[in-house]
Amino acid sequence: MRKFNEKSIVLATHNMGKFEEMKKLLDDGTRGISVYSSNEFEIDEPEELGHTYIENARIKARYSAEKTGLACLSDDSGIEVDGLNGAPGVYTADWAETKNGRNFEKAMKKVWDALDGKEVPFPRKARFVCTLVLVWPDKHEEVFEGKANGTLTWPGRGLNGHGFDPIFIPRSYKITYGEMDRWEKNRISHRAVAFQKMINKCFKDHEKSAN
Ligand code: IMP
Repeated sequence: MRKFNEKSIVLATHNMGKFEEMKKLLDDGTRGISVYSSNEFEIDEPEELGHTYIENARIKARYSAEKTGLACLSDDSGIEVDGLNGAPGVYTADWAETKNGRNFEKAMKKVWDALDGKEVPFPRKARFVCTLVLVWPDKHEEVFEGKANGTLTWPGRGLNGHGFDPIFIPRSYKITYGEMDRWEKNRISHRAVAFQKMINKCFKDHEKSAN
């Protein structure tokens, strides 16, 4: 596992909800690393043509690394619902596509309606999955995955967060991601789990040398 000793990193996402969560997870103010969004380099988003989270995260991280010449970190994530045999999964963002851009109200309704009449034992059981791909300028990469189990609820509750947050109740909570203080969500989420793994493996020695 390679240690991260770069001075800067680009977070390869145009989703500002994700960017803010990722920046906060990475940058606790002690690492001395400059954190940028791929937006700041005016890089367009590559098409996510993969059929797995890793493939899509790799496409995004490699694309930004090629364009910027800097280390890049991308996240591909989705929600997997038991009653839908794991759908929408890697296609979660696609379920939100409309002629006028992404609409998550519609996507959440689509997921809920698709569950109607499903007979499996726990159809509303669901999990968020996050895969991180960290790419160095010389193309070396490391991959990390995090999951958060929970249950879907309807109607959605809460105005915090982004995407499917209003209908997801994480295990051992009574409130949705959307009702949670957003930094509390960021402490327990699928993304937090993946980041913790990455930080333990790649950033720990860097922290020591930076201090
Ligand atoms: P992608 O990783 O950009 O392809 O998109 C994944 C999609 O999954 C997002 O557009 C969101 O709809 C959903 N998603 C991923 N992580 C979260 C989260 O933390 N909260 C709510 N929705 C999420």
